[in-house]
Amino acid sequence: MKAYIITDMEGIAGIAGWDSHKGTVVDNKKEEWMTLEVEAAVQGAKKAGADEIIIAESHKLIIDLLDKDVKVVVSGEFSLDYLPGLDASVDAVLIIGQHARSGIGTGVLNHTGNNTTLNIFLNGKVIGEAGFEMAYAASMGVPTIFLSGDKAAAEEANDLVKNMETVVVKEGINKYMAISVHPEKARELIKNGVEIAFSRMKEIDVFKPAPPYELVIEFSTTQTASKMAIIPGVKKIDGRTISYTSMNFKEIVAIYCLRGALYDVK
Ligand SMILES: [Zn+2]
Repeated sequence: MKAYIITDMEGIAGIAGWDSHKGTVVDNKKEEWMTLEVEAAVQGAKKAGADEIIIAESHKLIIDLLDKDVKVVVSGEFSLDYLPGLDASVDAVLIIGQHARSGIGTGVLNHTGNNTTLNIFLNGKVIGEAGFEMAYAASMGVPTIFLSGDKAAAEEANDLVKNMETVVVKEGINKYMAISVHPEKARELIKNGVEIAFSRMKEIDVFKPAPPYELVIEFSTTQTASKMAIIPGVKKIDGRTISYTSMNFKEIVAIYCLRGALYDVK
């Protein structure tokens, strides 16, 4: 059985800031905490029978703290390639350390891709990063069965996927404050949760928008929308909103990734 783990930083236990110098978090622990939550998911997946595990990350995973049987997507520079190695041969996707989408006030470090994206809609449904990841996996027939993160991220996942297995490691008070469980407790919950997710995989629904796919992105600045509108096929809806429609989800992914490269903060 092949599992694909996607990890983010903002939904890890103990973390409530981009840069924690002013907060209570020991900054140099963030990568270690994230890695150990991923490792907990690895151990849960192995116990459930996964014999091939690929990990995609974007926040400096400490690779040698992980089980030696995993494979990790490593990247030396910013890349536009989206979730390499995730294809139809994967049996299940697990999402670790997820944060809520932009605009959710109780979502710790809530954002969608970056802080200049106000909203993303896929076939009319507002989604965050996890929703996009799930839809991409589902377009290849791969279900997402588990998500850990803050309470708002878990609620977002449960709204998209009926019966999804979720683990809450902290509850947001606002964007930069949360009540968190202990990092070791988070690992315990994640390991157990992943094992449960595999055991009840068949009951878990899939967030699978049907083609044609319509992606609408509302930016915080008109300049990003203007840049994106240069791409053939991209339509401008208003000063800061664009849309793109395709039968092919890979094209939707391309537009989503270009948004991450072309954004303008002013
Ligand atoms: Zn993220």
